[in-house]
Amino acid sequence: MKTIKELIRESLTEVAATKDIRRQDSIKRVYKQFPELKDIDYQILEVRNSRFIAVIDNDERLIKRFDIAEEELYAKRAKIIARNNIDPEFDMEKCLCGKCNDTGFYVNSKGFLKVCPCRSKELDDCYEHSGMADYSSYKIENYRADYLGDAKKREKTRSELLRFMSGQNEENESPLCIFSAAPQTGKTFLAIVVCKTAINLGKSAYYAKCEDLASIGADTLEDIKHIDFLIIDDFADSVTLYNNVGSVLNSILETRAASKLPTVLVTPFPVAELIKKCDMRISGKLQSAKTISTEGR
Ligand SMILES: [Zn+2]
Repeated sequence: MKTIKELIRESLTEVAATKDIRRQDSIKRVYKQFPELKDIDYQILEVRNSRFIAVIDNDERLIKRFDIAEEELYAKRAKIIARNNIDPEFDMEKCLCGKCNDTGFYVNSKGFLKVCPCRSKELDDCYEHSGMADYSSYKIENYRADYLGDAKKREKTRSELLRFMSGQNEENESPLCIFSAAPQTGKTFLAIVVCKTAINLGKSAYYAKCEDLASIGADTLEDIKHIDFLIIDDFADSVTLYNNVGSVLNSILETRAASKLPTVLVTPFPVAELIKKCDMRISGKLQSAKTISTEGR
């Protein structure tokens, strides 16, 4: 599993190559159109090489002569550039993206470091590697607070989950959170968009269905114990009692709690009921967890 930072770092080689190709193309184009500029640039190069030899020979008189020659050539060059309206930076490497200066990240109006839109491909790849391959159409901007009634409550739930994800937790707050809401209220949608937001902020994050923990690969399992943010959907007491899920989940929660890494369990069941019926090891952890829930749970 690759984090967004790793994916962006890997893409920098390609960015550097593209920048260099563009620079070479630009030089070729300008030289073809203005051969006199090409001549001057070659003369400057020759003068510099000669000066280099003069430096080795320690010939002060020659060095001075070459310095003057170079200065004159530069003055000529500047005139050609100005007269023909040539971009004075035609032979320099230029950023492909002005928003992030090719770093892949920018600071938004709220002061958060975010993945730049120029890396949407890396972002989509990362969502895919992070358990969200089936949810490419789920976007935070499509979250509607007024969907299914109580808009204020839904807005509050969203901001509570985002705050928990971002790690701005209150002192002594548990790194484990249970998000409990009735079936068909858009829990999965919210879980996915919060997880995508975490990645968008440069964090490593993963989304998994609770029952899939039994079949998750050893490498991914190791990764999700240590990533910045983990969200486990469709959490139910019955799931923890079969296929070794209870034991896998227990070891994930234990490792993550030790490093105070935020984990969210998403469930359609009331918390009290889960505590009563879950695998005992999990049940103990639920008792001290933070709860985000709809009324009456
Ligand atoms: Zn950019």
